[in-house]
Amino acid sequence: MNLQVQPKLIIHGGAGSSLHGKGGLEAVRRSLHTIVEQVYALLLSGVNASVAVVQGCQLLEDNPRFNAGTGSVLQSDGQIRMSASLMDGRLGRFSGVINVSRVKNPIELAQFLQNSPDRVLSDYGSAELARELQLPTYNALTELRLQEWIQERQDNFKSTMANVVAEPELAETSNSRRGTIGVVALDTYGNLAAGTSTGGKGFERIGRVSDSAMPAGNYATNHAAVSCTGIGEDIIDECLAPRVVVRVTDGMSLKDAMQRSFAEATQNQRDFGAIALDVTGAIAWGKTSQVLLAAYHNGEKIDDTLELPDGTEIGCIL
Ligand code: ASP
Repeated sequence: MNLQVQPKLIIHGGAGSSLHGKGGLEAVRRSLHTIVEQVYALLLSGVNASVAVVQGCQLLEDNPRFNAGTGSVLQSDGQIRMSASLMDGRLGRFSGVINVSRVKNPIELAQFLQNSPDRVLSDYGSAELARELQLPTYNALTELRLQEWIQERQDNFKSTMANVVAEPELAETSNSRRGTIGVVALDTYGNLAAGTSTGGKGFERIGRVSDSAMPAGNYATNHAAVSCTGIGEDIIDECLAPRVVVRVTDGMSLKDAMQRSFAEATQNQRDFGAIALDVTGAIAWGKTSQVLLAAYHNGEKIDDTLELPDGTEIGCIL
């Protein structure tokens, strides 16, 4: 079954409300396009979907602009707790870490757990694993995220989520929010994988569990793969990623599966976005939020979803 197919790639840097200020938008565009270019080159060189997804997540985690790894938002107690998951569609295998602290790349722990009998670890277990693997202690805090938290604290944590991306001008002008990262890849062997990594919603209660390290927010089979972003509770309530993937697995086209799932989400007043690929190479995105920061490579060129109109939007490239 080692069919050589045209690789496809879509990544996201979160969903939320408008990116005020052109500088912010162009900077986000540059970051996303550069990472798409780097990861797509890996796929072309024959790297498998799972490895490409991990690499892409690491690059996004390392970019302080996005709310994952370095640049993660702070929780209500001023601490950073990150969550990440990986699903290999070929193996049908999910792994992840929930609320891990002091590591540089949570997705690395998720990758390690792919081959472990215990595949999802929570805070204490993740810390023990990081220690066992002798990962160096890392402080993911950035000055900008600290300033956001201090301001929110003064306002008594009124916001439901942290800023979509960390940009000085955005932090000042935008009043809402998000910024998780995700990568979905179809490799040259026809296999799919999805990865998602987050610092959480920001300002949340200690112990709150994000959708990003649950199948609800990150799911893949050998038919389709999806990574979600937005209000985790809404994503969990819709069980969004498996909802789309199972529809495709049962014979619906990716476009129809996204359209149907986002019509339901709009009706249920959910606030989120998702990126998806299917095994035929269709690339899709959907959002009910104002913006979805996604970029993709269709085999010919790179494009993005940064300037879609507000509200529910679905796109699918066959
Ligand atoms: N879904 C993430 C969470 O609720 C946040 C995000 O996507 O930005 O933890």
